[in-house]
Amino acid sequence: MSEGPPTEAPDAGHVRAKSVVVVNTGDGKGKSTAAFGVLLRASARDWKLAVVQFLKSGKWHVGEEEAARRLDVDWWSIGEGFTWDSDDLSEDEAVAKEAWAHARAVLAAGEHRLVVLDELTYPINWGWIDVSEVVDAIVHRPEHVNVVVTGRDAPAAIVDVADTVTEMVNVKHAFDRGVRALRGIDY
Ligand code: ATP
Ligand code: MG
Repeated sequence: MSEGPPTEAPDAGHVRAKSVVVVNTGDGKGKSTAAFGVLLRASARDWKLAVVQFLKSGKWHVGEEEAARRLDVDWWSIGEGFTWDSDDLSEDEAVAKEAWAHARAVLAAGEHRLVVLDELTYPINWGWIDVSEVVDAIVHRPEHVNVVVTGRDAPAAIVDVADTVTEMVNVKHAFDRGVRALRGIDY
């Protein structure tokens, strides 16, 4: 027999946080799109918003960047693009470190109420960015700054300091059946 609808508010006794840290990880599609969904919500509250996109080259102008600019989001794509297109990985590493230095400054400045660090886990997992620096910057951020981190294989140290962690599970993906990334859906 069904228990019927809940009659008590599930958040009775819950406290209001000044900010939270959200991590979207896992192999399935949706980590970045979910982060941009939060950006939409925050935009509706007139928050000042920032995105630092690691890996993706500023030359690509992905759809989310275009839309975010219309919402007045401060947007930095400081990656060099795909590592498999790269002829100089040490250059990519230097660029990733630069992107991180910038992201750290944005977090510490506290000018933005939401900072999305898109694809941050990849350069961390390749050993290009020191995870303890990232944890330190997140833990010591100004208390009103919300953070969303995306990317596969989120390091345990980041999961530890996050408030909400979601693992996207890959049930199936068109790419595995030979379908190319689709403009408007995938970028
Ligand atoms: P999205 O940006 O679509 O939310 P994502 O952020 O979860 O994807 P990333 O690891 O950042 O995933 O990969 C970025 C690109 O790879 C996107 O074009 C996305 O559609 C595609 N992608 C995501 N998951 C998979 C998968 N399991 N297999 C193949 N391609 C994927
Ligand atoms: Mg992504």
